[in-house]
Amino acid sequence: MDKKVVIIGGGIAGLFASCICATKGYETTLLSYGTGALTVAGGIIDLYGYDANGNLVLDPLAHIKTLKEPHPYAKIGVKNVELAVKAFLALTHNANYEYLGDAHSNQLVPTAIGTFKPSCLTPKTIDTSLFNQAKHICVVGFELLKDFFPNLVCENLQKIFGDTKEVSSVTIGLPLKSGVEYRDVSALDIARLLETNLGYLNFKEQLKPHVKEDTLFVLPPVLGEEPNYDLIDVLSIELSSNFVEVSAIPPSVTGLRLENLLIHEATRLGVDIVEKAKVVESDVQRRHCNEVYTYYAGRKKAYRADEFILATGGVFGGGLISKLGRMYEPIFNIEINVPQNQQDWSYPYLFTGKPQPFATYGIEVDKSLRPIDYRKNLLLDNVRIIGRGLAGYDFCFEKSGNGVAIASAFHAAMQV
Ligand SMILES: Cc1cc2nc3c(=O)[nH]c(=O)nc-3n(C[C@H](O)[C@H](O)[C@H](O)COP(=O)(O)OP(=O)(O)OC[C@H]3O[C@@H](n4cnc5c(N)ncnc54)[C@H](O)[C@@H]3O)c2cc1C
Repeated sequence: MDKKVVIIGGGIAGLFASCICATKGYETTLLSYGTGALTVAGGIIDLYGYDANGNLVLDPLAHIKTLKEPHPYAKIGVKNVELAVKAFLALTHNANYEYLGDAHSNQLVPTAIGTFKPSCLTPKTIDTSLFNQAKHICVVGFELLKDFFPNLVCENLQKIFGDTKEVSSVTIGLPLKSGVEYRDVSALDIARLLETNLGYLNFKEQLKPHVKEDTLFVLPPVLGEEPNYDLIDVLSIELSSNFVEVSAIPPSVTGLRLENLLIHEATRLGVDIVEKAKVVESDVQRRHCNEVYTYYAGRKKAYRADEFILATGGVFGGGLISKLGRMYEPIFNIEINVPQNQQDWSYPYLFTGKPQPFATYGIEVDKSLRPIDYRKNLLLDNVRIIGRGLAGYDFCFEKSGNGVAIASAFHAAMQV
C-alpha cells in the first residue's frame, strides 16, 4: 500500500513538498489554511545573498557549503540543496513557466525603489541579463498605483548606471471609469487589466512613443496574473523592446503566479488539497504522531498518516506563537528555546548589519528535519519541519527565505 503523507500548511514549502511527495508516489494530503508569505513576498527564490558580514555572495552554493549548524542548510546538506534547486527548475519548466538562474550564481534583481538585491532563481519576467544589453531604460509607472514611484526608481537607476545608460520614466493612464473602479489601484489590478484586450491595447499605445533603440522597460510586476509568459512574449515582439519587472510590491503578483503554478502542479500530480483546514491539535504517543485534527465550522476532523510534514511557517504565518518571554509551536506543543527576557530577543536597532536573534528562533531539528529539544533528544519520529518554522537563520538578513523553503521541502520529502 502507498505510504500516506499529510502536509500541514500551503505556503511555498508545503506546496513544493506536496509536489515532490506526489511525484514519489505517496498518497499525499495537503491541509491548507490561510495564505502563505508568497502572497506578499516576491516569487523569486533567494538562496543565499549576503554573508555574516553583509558582503554580497557571488556563488550561493559554494557559500552554503561553509555554513555550520544550526543553519538549516547545514542540516540539509549542500548536495540536497543543489538537487532541490534542480527539482524546482524542472517543475517550473515542465509547467511552461520556467525560471532562470542556477544555484551557483546570484543575479542582481531590481527592486521597487530602483536598487538591486541578490537573488538566485527568477521568472522570465525578471531576466536581469537584459540590463547589460539595454542602451535606454524607461521606468513605467501607472496612474493611481500604490507603492511604486517611477521618478524615484528612475533617479536611483541613473545613479547606478551613470553615463552608461539613459534612464527616463513614463506614467501610463488607466482606462478605468470614475466611481467604484477609480480607487487605489494595486499591481494585481493592473496585471488583470493588461490581460484584457482593452487594457493591453491602451498600454501598448501609450508605450509606443517611448520605444528607442535597445529599450528596456522596467515596470512593477503587472505582466499578467497567470503563471505564463504570453503577455511579455507578445509585448516584446510588438514593441521590439525588452521588459523587466521589479521584484515585488504587495500584493505580490510574482508570488501569486508561483502559488497558482504550485497549486496547479500539486493538483495535477494527484495531491488532495484540503482548503480551510486549520490543524489545531495532534495525537502523539511515544513520540509518534498518529493523526492530526482540523477544526472548521464546529466540526473536528482527523487525518491519519504514516508521515507528517509541518510547513506552517513562522510567527507571520501563525506556525509559531510568540508571547512575552515564550515562543511555541501550537499543533505539537513544541517549546522554542528563547531568552526569557524579551529585551534579549533583538538588538536595539532593527538594521544593525547583523542577523537579529528573534529572526533565528524556530524549531530545532536533526539532519532528517525531525524536531529535537535543547538537549538534542528526538521529539517526534515521523514529523518533519520545513520552511520558515525552522531555527537557525535570518532569511531577511542573508536573503535565503524561499531557498530554505524549497530545500527543506525537498529534503523532507526525500526523507519520507
Ligand atoms: C514581506 C516579505 C518579503 C519576502 N521576500 C522574499 C523574497 O524576495 N525572496 C525570498 O526568497 N523570500 C522572501 N521572503 C521570505 C519567504 O516569503 C518565506 O521565507 C517563505 O515564503 C516561507 O514559506 P513557508 O511555506 O515556510 O511559510 P508561509 O509562507 O508562512 O506558509 C505557511 C502556511 O501555513 C499556514 N498555516 C499556519 N498555521 C496553520 C495551521 N494550524 N493549519 C493549517 N495551515 C496553517 C499559513 O496560513 C500559511 O499558508 C519574504 C517574506 C516576507 C514576509
